[in-house]
Amino acid sequence: MKIILLGAPGAGKGTVAKLLTEYDGSVQISTGDILRAAVKQGSELGTKAKDYMDRGDLVPDSLIMQIMEARLQEPDCQNGFILDGFPRTIPQAQELKELLIKLGIKMNFVANLDVPRDVILDRLTTRRTCSNSSCQEIYNVKSNPPAEGGKCKKCGSPVIQRADETEEAITNRLETYNNKTAPLIGFYEKEGLLKNFLSLSSKDTVEEIKKALKG
Ligand code: AMP
Repeated sequence: MKIILLGAPGAGKGTVAKLLTEYDGSVQISTGDILRAAVKQGSELGTKAKDYMDRGDLVPDSLIMQIMEARLQEPDCQNGFILDGFPRTIPQAQELKELLIKLGIKMNFVANLDVPRDVILDRLTTRRTCSNSSCQEIYNVKSNPPAEGGKCKKCGSPVIQRADETEEAITNRLETYNNKTAPLIGFYEKEGLLKNFLSLSSKDTVEEIKKALKG
């Protein structure tokens, strides 16, 4: 499959993407995961991105496009990919459109995960993430807690609250979503690529997306 997952922070894009990779071997490409790994490594990219991320602001489009132009040409993308957290702005969507034409790639569709705001807020404040940059498994203190002692069930690393999941950063991220990312819904509707999914349970959404892929 070749799809884009659109949705507010906390809409469940990461969880849905991970479940979809188990379906047909498509890779999950999360710009957030790539950036967090770069911050942890202290690479040049990470140094440039860190302050934007901690505040809950978007990283400049030019940096993101450099990452994605290279990433989409890696061999593992040939079997399909699920874009999670990219594009995030209209300029990114426009540049992606040109890049896909250049690479001869046709997307199946853009899945917009629609989740009520109170559900989003609850998810973001209770969300925890594995600190191991090559794992980044997502937990929820209420519905899916980590193992004893706050350890990741998959890799055993400490499970933490992300720096951008403080109340202030969350408010900023949701505002940034409304101003910069929500307009992509209209963009992809015009492109004829948009499909809306009322997404209260990630598992149900995955089933709906699979159905849409078959149809
Ligand atoms: P996420 O894990 O997708 O919520 O991303 C975490 C943070 O990484 C965001 O709040 C942004 O600071 C940055 N980020 C991730 N993807 C993008 C993108 N496509 N454009 C700009 N910034 C991004």
